[in-house]
Amino acid sequence: MNYNKKSIEDVSVAGKRVLCRCDFNVPTKAGVITSDKRIVAALPTIEYLISHNAKVILCSHMGKPKGEWKPELSLKVVAKRLSELLGKEVVMADDVVGEDAKAKAAALKDGDVMLLENLRYMKGETKNDPAFAKELASMADLFVNDAFGTAHRAHASTAGVADYLPAVSGYLVQKEVSIMGKALADPDRPFVAILGGAKVSDKLNVINNLLEKVDTLIIGGGMAYTFLAAQGCGVGKSLLDEEKIDYCKDMMAKAQAKGVKLLLPIDTVVADAFPDPIDGPVEVQTVPSDAIPESKMGLDIGEKTRALFAEAAKGAKTVVWNGPMGVFENPTLAQGTIAVAQALAESDAVTIVGGGDSAAACEQLGFADKITHISTGGGASLEFLEGLELPGIACLEDK
Ligand code: ADP
Ligand code: MG
Repeated sequence: MNYNKKSIEDVSVAGKRVLCRCDFNVPTKAGVITSDKRIVAALPTIEYLISHNAKVILCSHMGKPKGEWKPELSLKVVAKRLSELLGKEVVMADDVVGEDAKAKAAALKDGDVMLLENLRYMKGETKNDPAFAKELASMADLFVNDAFGTAHRAHASTAGVADYLPAVSGYLVQKEVSIMGKALADPDRPFVAILGGAKVSDKLNVINNLLEKVDTLIIGGGMAYTFLAAQGCGVGKSLLDEEKIDYCKDMMAKAQAKGVKLLLPIDTVVADAFPDPIDGPVEVQTVPSDAIPESKMGLDIGEKTRALFAEAAKGAKTVVWNGPMGVFENPTLAQGTIAVAQALAESDAVTIVGGGDSAAACEQLGFADKITHISTGGGASLEFLEGLELPGIACLEDK
């Protein structure tokens, strides 16, 4: 995949109607936005378009209305918040590609901003229906993709419209592509990848691709136990993906053949059961990773492992991290994740964090501003690491 894509700065936007795909999929509670982070993140691109005299037509999905007109998933709340942040009116359309949206798009003057209704009110959006994509495109002269979180999906608004319009990236997508793209295509070495988290099966597939690129692969979190099992260790009641044990054996062999250092936990923090509630009190002990008692569940990496992983991360020039090292939501089980986040924060390397929970952990634990780049898309960043082509990026014009 070519990572050298045109951005808004590489084309002229003045006087043009620009359809800009954003990620305004913000959390709400009883109709009130509980975090406007995603709206704030979109501001640089929107402000660039405004100040360069584009007629800005913003669009996004929110939630999963599945082609139904669900009023609780209307983007009206986003238009209101965005308008406050920009200090200027954001015209809200009553529909997506209907009469109202088209009339309002046609009436835009240079520097005006409007927002279409929730793209997923239309069945054609997630089906990437060409007729719907064409309708969307018909309102504009240029397409800007600034939604990395949906870049791994071939939807009408993320990829389909590019069949009908010239397409470039916004700042958010550009940053993802340039930083992650460079790490994968031409990393400064040593290149260390750290994987963890709970979605074992999902992430095991990333390993195959990363083994082609990294110097050291570190595995912690819930996915480590399938590797430990592949080494013949008992893992008690820990997360285990039995169907992937053979795959893990293959990956260990591949690492050895390629001369990639593969680091697994050497000690493990265990408890009798998963804490309930997740942040409730939990009684733990630390055991060697090859001696997890049958009745116990591994919930974090132990102290020796923390030192081992931190040491490897500190010596790196590029680090990619995806997935917490333990059940970080619980203060007693957050130590492994803290140790890794701290090692990244203290390192001079280019540090990249992907994955919703890993990003949340970095922020919650106070390390976010010391990380080079925190990806805005969980699923998309994983597919990036898997070496897959992302439709929302592939459709953009090459430089
Ligand atoms: P991300 O969102 O960063 O991609 P995942 O969604 O894959 O990460 O995993 C995050 C979750 O993994 C967290 O909720 C954390 O509690 C859980 N987790 C980490 N280690 C373990 C473990 N040893 N056992 C069970 N769950 C774990
Ligand atoms: Mg997650």
